[in-house]
Amino acid sequence: MDLGIGGKRALVCASSKGLGRGCAEALAAAGVELVMNARGAEALEDAAGVIRAAHGVQVTTIAADITDPAGRAEVLAAAGDVDILVTNAGGPPPGLWSDWDRDDFIAALDANMLAPIALMTALLPGMMDRGWGRVVNITSQSVKAPIPVLGLSNSARAGLTGYVAGTARQVAPHGVTINNLLPGIHATDRADALDRGVVQAEGITLDEARARRAATIPARRYGTAQEFGAMCAFLCSQHAGFVVGQNILLDGGAVNATL
Ligand code: NAP
Repeated sequence: MDLGIGGKRALVCASSKGLGRGCAEALAAAGVELVMNARGAEALEDAAGVIRAAHGVQVTTIAADITDPAGRAEVLAAAGDVDILVTNAGGPPPGLWSDWDRDDFIAALDANMLAPIALMTALLPGMMDRGWGRVVNITSQSVKAPIPVLGLSNSARAGLTGYVAGTARQVAPHGVTINNLLPGIHATDRADALDRGVVQAEGITLDEARARRAATIPARRYGTAQEFGAMCAFLCSQHAGFVVGQNILLDGGAVNATL
């Protein structure tokens, strides 16, 4: 399917690895010029090189922390007038409700709620002026069903979801859509880190931890960054202009709910 976005320009945050990279690759495959970001320069340059070689699109890289105001300013300056914004950052650490103090919550809010809001605040006006734009926020299945060990994520992402629900309806008249993608477990470094936590806590092997988690998913496997990226690219496409303010689960059926 021709996504109709060849020649558009996208900022894909936190995209040297994992789900962000899957989104960057799928957009590049649709002919979109990229601005990619991550903190670590080496992996970022590697990813950009692979994407340039595979898809022949222009890729600009900015190594910076997207959750830090100075890093974000650097990224936004390089991004300029983008048509597409994919927000993403690392997820908060696991723990128990009784572990966290105010500083832990502020850090989670900065990374997973306020950073994407700041990016939207900066880029939505230009998209609205030009009459076309797409925003996809990478959130989590924890928005639909809380994950007990990820209380910081449950909290911060719920805040972002509320913001998007209202804002998406205000920018839609200008040809701009905002939607959230909610990953369940995908085979990335983040899933590995969470599984290693289970290995330590329960004295089992990594393979056992993975098998145990996969058994809880109706699809009986982890998702892939490629599948995730394909859905992101579709939401950014010309065909998805009527999809506004939605929260789309990609979880192999893990959240057991009718709606
Ligand atoms: P990942 O494999 O660990 O990749 C994270 C990517 O983001 C890397 O490129 C990393 O590069 C970059 N990054 C992290 N923090 C950053 C920051 N502050 N500024 C700029 N770049 C940053 O993670 P993932 O699995 O793709 O997860 C992406 C998001 O989805 C996370 O918020 C995660 O919590 C959420 N999620 C993931 C899953 C899953 O199963 N994978 C499920 C639910 C939710 P650097 O480290 O070099 O910066």
